[in-house]
Parts: sequence; C-alpha cells; structure tokens
Amino acid sequence: SQELSEDAHIDYHAALLALQEHGTRMVCTGKMHTDRICRFDYLCYCSEAEEFVFFYSNSSVMLPNLGPRRFQPALLDLSSVEDHNTQYFNFLELPAGALKFMPKPVFVPDVTLILNRFNPDNLMHVFHDDLLPAFYTMKQYLDLDDEARLVFMEGWGEGPYFDLYRLLSSKQPLLKEQLRNFGKLMCFTKSYVGLSKMTTWYQYGFVQPQGPKANILVSGNEVRQFAKAMMEKMNITGPEAAAKEAEGAEEEKGKEKEKREDYIVVFSRSTTRLILNEAELIMALAQEFQMRVLTVSLEEQSFASIVQVISGASMLFSMHGAQLVTSLFLPRGAAVVELFPYAVNPEQYTPYKTLASLPGMDLQYVSWRNTMEENTVPHPDRPWDQGGIVHLEKEEQERIQTSKDVPRHLCCRNPEWLYRIYQDTLVDIPSLLEVLKESLKTRPNLKRSKAASTVHPGRVREPQCRTSVQATNEAKLTVSWQIPWNLKFLKVREVKYEVWIQEQGENTYMPYILPQQNYTFSENIKPFTTYLVWVRCIFNKSLLGPFADVLMCRT
Ligand code: UDP
Repeated sequence: SQELSEDAHIDYHAALLALQEHGTRMVCTGKMHTDRICRFDYLCYCSEAEEFVFFYSNSSVMLPNLGPRRFQPALLDLSSVEDHNTQYFNFLELPAGALKFMPKPVFVPDVTLILNRFNPDNLMHVFHDDLLPAFYTMKQYLDLDDEARLVFMEGWGEGPYFDLYRLLSSKQPLLKEQLRNFGKLMCFTKSYVGLSKMTTWYQYGFVQPQGPKANILVSGNEVRQFAKAMMEKMNITGPEAAAKEAEGAEEEKGKEKEKREDYIVVFSRSTTRLILNEAELIMALAQEFQMRVLTVSLEEQSFASIVQVISGASMLFSMHGAQLVTSLFLPRGAAVVELFPYAVNPEQYTPYKTLASLPGMDLQYVSWRNTMEENTVPHPDRPWDQGGIVHLEKEEQERIQTSKDVPRHLCCRNPEWLYRIYQDTLVDIPSLLEVLKESLKTRPNLKRSKAASTVHPGRVREPQCRTSVQATNEAKLTVSWQIPWNLKFLKVREVKYEVWIQEQGENTYMPYILPQQNYTFSENIKPFTTYLVWVRCIFNKSLLGPFADVLMCRT
C-alpha cells in the first residue's frame, strides 16, 4: 500500500469519519445504462468479494435511484462497448454501520477514473475502445486531470500496449489484480465510473454484423487532437510541429521543410495475415509513385518510432488488421490503402475505412481485395482462433474451403471468417496499381492539404416574401433574405441558398438551390394559394445551415 499512502495527504481519521457519517454519494449523467457515467464520493471496493460497495447513511445520495431497475441489466457499461453483458458495472449496498465490523479501509486520495479496457491485446481495441474514450471522458470532467488515477477493472494483465495507457495521466494506472495489495477494503475519495462512448465509430458485430455505428458523434478534429496529445506525450515532433518551427526560423530551415521528402509506409505483420511478396510490393510502389518506401511492424519497432514515421507519410499500406488504427496519426491528405485476403469483402469490415472517412480526418481511403485463389495461402491446421478449421466436420471444412465469399456473420468466432481473414496473400501488383489509379482522386499530397473549414452557416436573416397575381392562372412569389450573421467573418469558397416551397396542405415541396439573395418564382405558382417557404444557407456544397422560420406567403 506504499504508493497510495505516500501521496495520501488526506487526514485518515477525517476520511473515515466522513465515510461513516455521510456514506457514499453518487450522482450520474445519462438516462440509460448505456450512456451513463457516475461520479462518486467514497465508493469502496472489497477485494475479497470483488465487489464495489455503496455505504448507506442518512446523508448518502444515489442519483438515479433506480431501485431494482439498477439490475436490469446494470447501472452502467464499464467499457465503451455498448451494452456488452461482460462489461456491466454495479455495486453492493451496505449500511455505513457495517464499517465497524469490516477491515479498516484504505483511502485512495487521487481522483480516479474506473473503467474496463475491452481488449487490451489488440491495438484497434486499445485506441478505439479505451484510449480515445478515456481521453475524452477526462476532458469532460475537469478534476480528471493529469494527476488522475486510472483503474482498469476488466481483470486482464498489463498487456502489450500498457505504455500507451500510461500516457493518459502522470500516475501509474492500477489493474484489478493490484487492488488487493492495498487491503481488503479500498475507498476512492472521488471517482468517476464508466467511459464516454462519444468518440467511438464502430460496432464489432455482437448483435448485428459489424459496421460503422449508427450515429457517429466524433469528427476528425477530435481524433486529430487526441493524436496530437498522444504524440506530445511520446515526445514526437510531428510534421506539423516541424513545419511550425520552420516557419518562424531562418530561411534554411524553411528550405529544409520544402525538401521534406514524400514517402510511403508499408505496415507489415510478421506472424499472421502476411503479405507474401512484400519486397516485390515495395519495389512496385517505389517505382509507381517515385517515393521512398519504408516498412514498419509492431514486432520490430517501438510504438513511438512507428508513430513518428506514420505521422509524416503520404500513403499507408497494410493488410486489414488492428495496426491500421495508426492511420489516425497520418497527416491530412494522406492515403490509407487496406489490403484484404481472398474471399473477404472489404465492404463488410470497415473500421479503418470509417476512421479515414470521418468528416475532417481528410484522409483518402482505398481498399484492395485478393480475387485470385491461387494467390492465397490459408492455414486450416492452425488453432481455431487463428483460422484453423480441422476441428470442424469434413463437410463443413469443404464448404468453407470452396466458398468464394464469407457470408455476413456476427462476432467473434465464425470459423469461416477466421479461416479467410488469417490467410496470407501474394499481392497481385497490377490489380493493386489498377485500383489505386481508379480510386485515388488526387495524388496523396500533404503540402496542399490544410484543414477544410467546418463552420456551418447561421440562419438567413430577415426572410420575406412578396406576391402578386398576374392572371387567373398566373402568380408570382418573390422571396428575399439577408446573409447569415456569421458569413461576414468568414472566407467561404461557395455560398448558396436553398429554398423549399410547399403548397399548404400538400406533403411534397419544390427545392431550389440559388446563388443570390432573392428570387422570383413564377413556374408552378398558383393564384390565391398559400405557400410555406423555407430558406437556408449552404457553404461549400455540404455545410448546411438551419432553416429560417417558415414564411407563409399568400398569392
Ligand atoms: N499483430 C501484429 N503482427 C502480426 C499479427 C498481429 O502486430 O503478425 C498485432 C495486431 O496489430 C493486433 C494484435 O497483434 O494489435 C492482434 O492481432 P489479431 O490478428 O488477433 O487482430 P486483428 O489485427 O485482426 O484485429
């Protein structure tokens, strides 16, 4: 218990008294267990029982007070994966009086974030499920600062990427197994339980086949700010930092920046899902793009050195796999090229495509798929979790081996999926270059790619309509408006206005896109009719503003 008590500047007796008198206090956000994060004073953990404990007293608080609904199915998700039944959090209740009969509690003075890592052995899961959600949960609660303590309750060991979790705060994260070292009863003075799901973009297929989340709430901006913060913690000066440095400095440094060479990175896997002709691929890419080609692999380099290389790359090539999550460190304008083994449909496995396509990520994404059976090397004899199928019935093995496409399936043990995804691939260079030619809209270019503006227009102002009747079957409707208030502060490439005209009582409308701030409609406008008119502003074709209040226009 040395580490905790050393920086324990709290008065033990005061803390014990507070716990006995006030008990535990909990106040949560969120309506459902799937969107809930709870803040506690004096949440305790009993390592013998492996249970969190809420101590009742006259002044304890429990909001929401769900009664037995707290178990239907749980108070909250402890990981960022939605509603996974192995990741639920709950606590036991005890009267504060029971403390008299319990071992003396050890108090944790740090503000603590308690969570489950979902799969700390897999780099995609590490970033997507744990690091990004923890990073932004900590941004949400000000006292979860650099001094915060993280506690991982999933029960796994440190795992291969523990150093990445260490970057989240200056204090060493605690694992569930370490909690018992601190005594039988630990009480967290101040803690937050649960993770924000705001930054996740992918669902892994537990209830429906995997795919992008239905309602993605994160943009490239937040992913890139996270990446920047991680790089700073790893002491990596990315190309942006280097460029900034050069800007202010003397001319020579500026020239150096100009000379900074474009290069391609091939992320190679050394144990499974191999590219069998990696050397040939590298030569072909160097030849085709006239760029240097570097290879990186998790087996051979430190993670920081990989990030350093990727953060300056123009293109990243890799077989489908968790290592591709590192594309979040690519500079804007770079291309991600994901290679898929034989019989695997790239459309159905899109965690990295979704990442690259987040608005504001500004990455190009290209997938290539091996369609030549003679170029694939399956491994039927391996263990089931590396795609082996010899444990299956002969008929099933045959079916799998002759199938040309893995049908849609749920996570995580579908043998046909595992068999196909763990194949090694001889990449057919001509077909890959063909796909690149077709799909790369522009040559990946880092120098020209500034962050595109994401500012949305405000409402158009002072919308008005005037009408006139020309003849018994002819009328005119003139609509005018003023520019949105924020436009005068912005440099916008293209400003357009959208006008919807609906005849009252009809359930369809006519949409128009206009470059100017007024227009007289005469086609399809009838006399003595009421029209409802909506007007909004659009920047650069895709940034839609809100509609102004509807106009009622009677001809
Ligand atoms: N991995 C690796 N080299 C390999 C195989 C795997 O670095 O040859 C890493 C991979 O990036 C991931 C972890 O090991 O972080 C687990 O790999 P697995 O194939 O199980 O998962 P996937 O990459 O398909 O998500």
